[in-house]
Amino acid sequence: MNIMLLGAPGSGKGTQAAMISGRYGIPHISTGDILRQAVTDGTGLGLKAKGYMDRGELVPDEIIIGVVEECLQEKDCERGFILDGFPRTVAQAESLEKSLKGMGRSLNVVLNIEVEDEEIIRRLTGRRICERCGRIFHLLFDPSKKGEVCEVCGGDLYQRVDDTEETVRRRLEVYKEQTAPLIDFYERRGLLRNVQGEKSAADVFEHIQGALEGIRG
Ligand code: AMP
Repeated sequence: MNIMLLGAPGSGKGTQAAMISGRYGIPHISTGDILRQAVTDGTGLGLKAKGYMDRGELVPDEIIIGVVEECLQEKDCERGFILDGFPRTVAQAESLEKSLKGMGRSLNVVLNIEVEDEEIIRRLTGRRICERCGRIFHLLFDPSKKGEVCEVCGGDLYQRVDDTEETVRRRLEVYKEQTAPLIDFYERRGLLRNVQGEKSAADVFEHIQGALEGIRG
């Protein structure tokens, strides 16, 4: 099954993609994760992407399109994939459609996770990540039992530079201007399924599983 997750930053795409990947055994391709890893590793891609990411802007299409094309050629994507955070512009969506067509494939479904702006701001500005084990906490909804350090491994917790309120608001603007037009794009192709995202991760996942039933990949 070839799945794409659409939704604003903080709508829970990453969490749901990981759950879908576990349940259906297909790889999770997160362009945000790939770019953050590239920044950490100091690769050419990371150096090009860092400034855009820190400002909450999108990395230019020509950079990210090549990255995803390479991933889709991997053997583990043959049985299907979950795209999380890509495409994010109409140009990216058109390019994806073309690449998949060239491989004799296409998307089977686009899950659009809907969450209100104020909820997104609450979710993202409170997010804290363990620098050692990567465990994600939330100051209000899921705080570490050890306060400022990770309750699992004792590592320090940090906030992503793009999770400050100012940058989250910028990311939401960018989403509305450049990514939200994809809702229409995929609606017209009959691929869109809306998912109410303001529930627990388990409840959202249940809804998604219902939406995926009957879709053939
Ligand atoms: P995310 O973790 O998906 O919110 O992505 C974090 C940042 O990575 C975004 O704010 C962008 O700067 C960059 N990024 C991720 N995916 C894309 C994409 N498909 N196109 C352009 N920039 C992207």
